[in-house]
Amino acid sequence: MTSLPLVFDPPRRGLPPRHLADLSQSERRDAVAELGEKPFRADQLSRHYFGRLENNPDAMTDLPTGVRDKLGQALFPPLLTEVRHVETDSGTTRKTLWKLHDGTLVESVLMRYKDRLTVCVSSQAGCGMACPFCATGQGGLTRNLSTAEIVEQVAAAARVAAAGELSGGVVRLSNVVFMGMGEPLANYKRVAAALHRMVEPAPAGLGLSQRHITMSTVGLVPAIHRLADEGLNVTLAVSLHAPDDELRDTLVPVNTRWNVREVLEAADEYAARTGRRYSIEYAMIRNINDQGWRADLLGELLSGRLAHVNLIPLNPTPGSKWDASPKPVEEEFVRRVAAYGVSITVRDTRGREIDGACGQLAAKG
Ligand code: SAH
Repeated sequence: MTSLPLVFDPPRRGLPPRHLADLSQSERRDAVAELGEKPFRADQLSRHYFGRLENNPDAMTDLPTGVRDKLGQALFPPLLTEVRHVETDSGTTRKTLWKLHDGTLVESVLMRYKDRLTVCVSSQAGCGMACPFCATGQGGLTRNLSTAEIVEQVAAAARVAAAGELSGGVVRLSNVVFMGMGEPLANYKRVAAALHRMVEPAPAGLGLSQRHITMSTVGLVPAIHRLADEGLNVTLAVSLHAPDDELRDTLVPVNTRWNVREVLEAADEYAARTGRRYSIEYAMIRNINDQGWRADLLGELLSGRLAHVNLIPLNPTPGSKWDASPKPVEEEFVRRVAAYGVSITVRDTRGREIDGACGQLAAKG
């Protein structure tokens, strides 16, 4: 990649100190050796962190105290401090506000369903994509999150689940969606490393299933290609929101750089390379993108592609002039798209009452 577009130019300021979860297994061994300890200590630390979700070095009692103190200090800096959490949907949805080492605030959301437990993680503090209907987009980008700051959101969710803190009792974390704050593919290197940490089996990583991880993007085409080269086959979700460039230029401003056709071609290539169906996300905004003719256009566009459409009823955001489409309009839209043989469902929106739903994360202290 020689000519990286501006959106990939990552602000480095504020990145936290190095943590075990930033490192691959071989990097962990090197780091431990540099600290003057035997490389096998890295495997012990990894078993604690990735295998048992332990991030407190004091609890790693199979290591001698001196070693534990030294490695603990060097490789387990506290990255996320819980400010508070709020719950809704009878305790099955929980939004957590985290303070990072430099005081930056981010949020993640845990959602328990009958058959799965999903954590929605943030990949950046704020977001630079400026989509006008999304609360995160209104504040701009503060900074990228480090790999470990992303992994820690997942580990924290897994700890809450394993401790039986969610309504319904003990459960295993099964799914991760990159649909919290930020544009994950604009923080590519750190997000890709976080993916490897999530899917590699313990003690290398958390051992989550690739197909249970969803990467959601506004459609940064070169980064979609790069993800296809990554050797992973996580699920790709593209935030389309309009089938035509004229409207998409206003709803997802990066469309002026990579248009609808280019984004869909990149998603097709991803599907061909990975064998995975991709999702098209479409927030239904009353009288903006919900017309019958746009449903027809979307159906025509996606017909024959390995895509599934997720309609998201627009969630309210502060100061927005837009509303969700009325139910009958939504139903008609579904009917029309489905008539083209395209699979389409309406997303069961969670966490709206706690400003924890899609597009509502703004991390106010
Ligand atoms: N930046 C990434 C991931 C974060 S948003 C992306 O855009 O895909 C996750 C999803 O929520 C995206 O599809 C986004 O477009 C959608 N979204 C944003 N604001 C929303 C709102 N107010 N109501 C419903 N969905 C929204």
